[in-house]
Amino acid sequence: MHGKGVARGYAIGRAVVMGAASLEVAHYRIAPEDVVAESDRLTQALCQAQADLLQMADTLPADAPRELGAMLNVHRLLLGDPLLAEQTLALIAERHYNAEWALAAQGQILGEQFDAMEDEYLRERGADVRQVIERVLQVLSGSTAMLPDAGSLDGNDPLVVVAHDISPADMLRLRGGRFAAFVTDLGGPTSHTAIVARSMGVPAVVALGNVRELVRDGDTLVVDGAAGVVLVNPSQRMLQEYRDRQVAYTAERAELALLRDERAVTLDGIDIVLNANIELPDEAAGALAAGADGIGLFRSEFLFMGRRSLPDEEEQYQAYASVARIMAGRPVTIRTLDIGADKTLDDEATVATNPALGQRAIRYCLAHPEMFATQLRAILRASAHGHVRLLLPMVTHMHEVTAALAAIEAARRELDARGQAYAKRLEVGAMVEVPAIAIAIEPFAQALDFLSIGTNDLIQYTLAIDRGDHDVAGLYDPLHPAVLRLVANTINAGARLSKPVAVCGEMAGDAHLTRLLLGLGLTEFSMHPQQLLDVKREIRRAHSNDLRVKVATALNRAIPVDLDLLQG
Ligand code: PEP
Ligand code: MG
Repeated sequence: MHGKGVARGYAIGRAVVMGAASLEVAHYRIAPEDVVAESDRLTQALCQAQADLLQMADTLPADAPRELGAMLNVHRLLLGDPLLAEQTLALIAERHYNAEWALAAQGQILGEQFDAMEDEYLRERGADVRQVIERVLQVLSGSTAMLPDAGSLDGNDPLVVVAHDISPADMLRLRGGRFAAFVTDLGGPTSHTAIVARSMGVPAVVALGNVRELVRDGDTLVVDGAAGVVLVNPSQRMLQEYRDRQVAYTAERAELALLRDERAVTLDGIDIVLNANIELPDEAAGALAAGADGIGLFRSEFLFMGRRSLPDEEEQYQAYASVARIMAGRPVTIRTLDIGADKTLDDEATVATNPALGQRAIRYCLAHPEMFATQLRAILRASAHGHVRLLLPMVTHMHEVTAALAAIEAARRELDARGQAYAKRLEVGAMVEVPAIAIAIEPFAQALDFLSIGTNDLIQYTLAIDRGDHDVAGLYDPLHPAVLRLVANTINAGARLSKPVAVCGEMAGDAHLTRLLLGLGLTEFSMHPQQLLDVKREIRRAHSNDLRVKVATALNRAIPVDLDLLQG
């Protein structure tokens, strides 16, 4: 069976199929005189479910994945939402549905509303609504949880949980050595099953459609969490094949983990800086744990998105300062607001004709000086707590740099007037993500302290490919000679003018491209924390000078680089 692989790894185990109350709901009409009693039954079940969630949140084990507490809160909020209780009670009062039927019907309506949302993240929150309803249905049916029967847990062989969907609360109960993988009918890459499985380090395949109907308790399952494949009762030959893959994968991860405290240095002795990209402050601890040298890109716009009121100076200051403190003197590169294009604020009513070419990032900030000044003061104040650097997104013109530097100076004066502290020196850099600046890079490299190449946008703007458009995704080519020449031009200018140059776009975290970037002369990479060790391993196996010769040859001829030729 094929689904979406959302947490890497292999598992071989015995299937344990979990029930789903919502799939077995009783439908009947109640007598008009029973409406009050039936409504009470529903209200009590809602209260009981709230109390259960509260108790779970209060008794979370210390080693529980940190996402779980937040997820339990989301479920409590959904449970308390009047739309759920009031509309369900109305179905009981007006149509005389029994409580379970009314709840399942209302759940269906809400679920469909979420399914119709454009935003993938919001769409997946429909799963939370269904899980909350599942919980109340369990309370109504008198059962405490949709856990597997005790009988199916006999023995000590590894178990694979097969479910329609799994709520975060049930994931919590399933933690522990016996459960080797999760496979579900529903879910997507940002569903809770996916997030929690990844943080538990357990392989998971979601969106299988009807795995719960096709698999029986006790079946032998093989789960490939990277490919999204589930094999049911495979042959001995296939089992052996996957046992071998499992052993190889486990050995590979164990070997990689040993690299955490090793230097990222090439065979010819070039030291490479490996930084992490983060979106929210609470990811900083994970970056440190993964062995990052610093934060190369903190996408500050994520503090501003998905909310009605924007964060004020104090809230931003606390967020930035917390990252600076966690990173304890290591560099923390805070990018000023990169809003616009696909990242919009909730209160922005107008849609630009072509948002990616519109008032985005630094253009937006310079057009909203109050908002920009607030962020600059917050970043400056955070600089008193560590090594903070400031990064300007989507810079295209020198006058944008001049205006931004003047705004930073004005923010300093304001803090002086208030008597608030900030670091004496703040390095200021620019993202290189518009071809114009990559071509005419010298004055930017001279005026700024560092540069960071955003390959995601640089490729989009160079090749005229909308990075979010599926129809042209096949043309999005990091190896296009024009893209590589722009990257090379930027790195070379940095070397000539002694200004550090990093790559913080997705190219930096793709271990298949590590040798290519080393060959272009790159010495600073920034990526998602979970990619750090794969890239470090490539670096430690590479000979930087050999790669430089090979890549220069291909670039001079303006032909795409053959990645195979860069191997070994
Ligand atoms: C980039 O464009 O490569 C980049 C790192 O910025 P973002 O992905 O946030 O646009
Ligand atoms: Mg970008």
